[in-house]
Amino acid sequence: MSEFRVRYSYLPQQFGNVDDLFEEIKKFIPTGDFTLGAPLTEFEGRFADLIGTRHAIGVGSGTDALKLPLKAVGVGHGDEVITTANTFIATVGAINEIGATPVFVDCDDTFCMDVSQVEAAITERTRAIMPVQFTGEITDMPKLMEIADRHNLPVVEDACQGILASIDGKRAGTWGIAGGFSLHPLKNLNVWGDGGVIVTNDDEVAAKLRLLRNHGLQNRDEIALLGYNSRLDTLQAIVGNWLIGDTHDITQKRIDNAAVYDAAFADVPQITIPPRRDNVKRVFHLYIVFAEDRDDLYEYCLEKGVEAKIHYPIPLYLQEGLAHLGYKVGDFPVTDRHAKNIITFPTDQHLNPEQLDIVIQTVRDFYAGN
Ligand SMILES: *Cc1c(COP(=O)(O)O)cnc(C)c1O
Repeated sequence: MSEFRVRYSYLPQQFGNVDDLFEEIKKFIPTGDFTLGAPLTEFEGRFADLIGTRHAIGVGSGTDALKLPLKAVGVGHGDEVITTANTFIATVGAINEIGATPVFVDCDDTFCMDVSQVEAAITERTRAIMPVQFTGEITDMPKLMEIADRHNLPVVEDACQGILASIDGKRAGTWGIAGGFSLHPLKNLNVWGDGGVIVTNDDEVAAKLRLLRNHGLQNRDEIALLGYNSRLDTLQAIVGNWLIGDTHDITQKRIDNAAVYDAAFADVPQITIPPRRDNVKRVFHLYIVFAEDRDDLYEYCLEKGVEAKIHYPIPLYLQEGLAHLGYKVGDFPVTDRHAKNIITFPTDQHLNPEQLDIVIQTVRDFYAGN
């Protein structure tokens, strides 16, 4: 297959015409305001307004947007952080980087943490809970917050895939003490490289995060604590400012595309659509369904020019790089089942109706035996 009819990456279209952005960058370069510059301050203000929090702090990556808040609430060596078994490696990487140990709980068919299993995973070493708003879905946060409060555990949300997702109208990233977002090129709001943003309503935590991302420097000469070099690049903040006004439209387009798929796949008995809870706004960073004969369907899609994906074929807890955690096959049965029968279809804002039809028709043809 040389050419996909429906590609997974939309970046060539998204950044196909950037003349005005280059003008902005051209004006900015001679200012020399490259670290923690004015465009970053502007972006942080706009991001905080978008999510509806008091603070937004730009950092070097989505991973750092998880690592720094964990650090800020006192998680460190030897501590345990409860998270989900079916997440992207970056969640685990963030926990690992500060010397803590990830403790997995299984997910449910929404792809988020099965909150009913959290209490059984709490030990005397548990110091935080990190739910993942995976695929742009959202964890049962009201229930999770109730458990976390009862055990006096801070919650840091991995909202990297969940920008503008909400449950009962309350947004991803705003439920716990802090929430981390990624601006990676393949996230819903994206820049031209790595970047992340932390949101919080807590003034003290915000002040600490601003120190942590900038070597702990209180000012040029005084170091308040040992931190990191993790500032969101001011040039990337210019890209972010160029795009952030489109975030609601991007989100709505993805939701609309997903609705087209949901309606079409409702008539395909071999496809099962995940539960769609009424009180949840999901933003479809990933559009995933459960499919019979998944491996053959996946191959067929690629052959027919539809660039489907699988998120993910090998669960984290079975990866060689995580073998030291001591998990064994079968520990997370829902995650295992998903690894075998989920498939992801392109759902980005640049797809046209003909491309959605190609995806739908390809799936129908496969099950019709064509
Ligand atoms: C993208 C992502 C991250 C952060 O990744 P970065 O590449 O560091 O921005 C963290 N968790 C999840 C679930 C993600 O999808």
